Amino acid sequence: MAEKKLNGTVIVTYRCNARCSMCNRYKAPSKPEEEISIETIKKLPKMYFTNITGGEPFIRTDIKDIVRELYKKSDRIVISTNGFFTDRIVDLCKEFPQIGIRISIEGLENTNNEIRGLENGYQRGYQTLKKLREMGMTDVGFGMTVQDKNAPDLVPLYKLSDEMGMEFATASLHNSFYFVEAKNIIKDRPMVAQNFENLVNELLVSKSPKKWFRAYFNHGLINYIYGQKRLLPCDMSFDTFFIDPYGDVMPCNGTKDKEVMGNLNEQTWDELWSSPAAEEVRKKVRCCDRDCWMIGSVSPAMHKYIWVPAWWVITHKLKFWTKKKYSMYENKIVRDLRDGKVTKEELDKCSTCDMCAVVNNGLSEASMEQLKDRSGEEIVDADIAAQYSDK
Ligand code: SF4
Ligand code: SF4
Repeated sequence: MAEKKLNGTVIVTYRCNARCSMCNRYKAPSKPEEEISIETIKKLPKMYFTNITGGEPFIRTDIKDIVRELYKKSDRIVISTNGFFTDRIVDLCKEFPQIGIRISIEGLENTNNEIRGLENGYQRGYQTLKKLREMGMTDVGFGMTVQDKNAPDLVPLYKLSDEMGMEFATASLHNSFYFVEAKNIIKDRPMVAQNFENLVNELLVSKSPKKWFRAYFNHGLINYIYGQKRLLPCDMSFDTFFIDPYGDVMPCNGTKDKEVMGNLNEQTWDELWSSPAAEEVRKKVRCCDRDCWMIGSVSPAMHKYIWVPAWWVITHKLKFWTKKKYSMYENKIVRDLRDGKVTKEELDKCSTCDMCAVVNNGLSEASMEQLKDRSGEEIVDADIAAQYSDK
């Protein structure tokens, strides 16, 4: 029997040069010496899809070696980046033109720079994307985390990506140890949902079946920001995994605290994947009520339960032929809020936002130790400065 391929995300570093308003990871970097090694990457299983992420993955100067190794075991690789290290991205893409690159852009210029906290962040990201297109790269696109501040930019940014012939991936605010954040919450749900509704209609009217399924994903984001049950089961840790910079294998990046199935620095993949600790984590996943709607956990579910999104797509394409558009009020909870059957405060309680939470950042003891004398920002800034002065 052929070996079953998995879906994996490799968090190559917790270091980040950005200062995003919805993620505090930049304050909690990993120590470079502890970050996942090529030797550990060699122990990963076969994958049909691998996402490389961070922190900011291009902070790792050996990112090319990592990608080279991962291509030996993965059919497709996509890197999520803030797009700041243009030269490194371009250089990598020269060697791996088939790779996917998703650059996070959080809105039009001013909004993006405000949210990302990087001077010139928008121009850097946008110019990097343009350069990659000029090089003939096909699998490139934008990624946007939709929140109150940038929701009005959602459709304009989609149109920009469309004009450039690029992919457009969306997410919304989540709380977890991975984002070192527990206070993210959408404040004006109807306004944000209205912008998602506009995007869903733009996607449904296109000629691309891939975009029709993206429309379903965005419909699910409306459901998520209203704090409702996921539209599809979550099977993380069954056929999908995350591995962090310390070699710890986890079900996902959405849990409040870090959940560990095993450590790949110390175990073989087979030992780890079939261990009692992994089974314990799977039990927790089965009753997890965080109801995340992030592409990492939804994309495998959309493939596995294909008839759910497919039926949604068919019924909504049929609606279009009768000139009816998708409406956010198809979601009962959106109608209930409009009609006063549920209050904003009640919906706030359904979210994962916890103003009193003590946030676990998932760092190792050694990484925590370095934060005693300096801030995460100071550590990473000095690290990047040293990388460039070594050249
Ligand atoms: S969202 Fe990404 S780019 Fe922004 S601080 Fe977090 S890890 Fe860095
Ligand atoms: S819903 Fe799924 S992805 Fe979210 S925290 Fe639970 S197990 Fe992880």
